[in-house]
This record gives sequence, structure tokens and C-alpha cells, in this order.
Amino acid sequence: MIRFIFLIVFGYLAYRMVKKIISEKIVFIKKFQSAFDNNPQTEELLEDPYCHTFVAADHAHVRTINGKMEFFCSQQCADQFMLQQTPS
Ligand SMILES: [Zn+2]
Repeated sequence: MIRFIFLIVFGYLAYRMVKKIISEKIVFIKKFQSAFDNNPQTEELLEDPYCHTFVAADHAHVRTINGKMEFFCSQQCADQFMLQQTPS
């Protein structure tokens, strides 16, 4: 009889442990998925008109040239492009 009770207690503890591990994994997967889902909105890629590399909108250097918004990968690219645009 004692063995039977022990088995129930052990089974319950094992069940709780498995449940905890599974719920933690689900939380981790949900976190990962939400981070992944948010990416297309925040990490929109824009082409640098000077060096033609693609920059994430978050990290882009924005300049308004002739009323048009241009996105650059760096300050240098923005400056070089501005120099090209201004008639000498
Ligand atoms: Zn660039």
C-alpha cells in the first residue's frame, strides 16, 4: 500500500515537472515568434541610393533631398550623395 502511495506522489511530481517544462517551452516559443513577427515592420529594408546597400529603416540615416526622403547606410553616404546632387 505504501508503495502504491509513493508511486502516485512520484507520478504527480513527474507530471508537474513535465508540465512546468512544457509551459516554459511554450513561453519561449511565443517570445521567439512575437520577436520574429515584429521583424518585417521594424526591420524594413531600404536601398541606399549612393552605395546601393540595403539598410534597416531603424538604422538608416534619413535626408530629404528635393522634397524626397532618401535613406542612407551611413553619414558618409548621405554626405557624398548630397554633394553629387548639388549642382557645381
Ligand atoms: Zn551607403
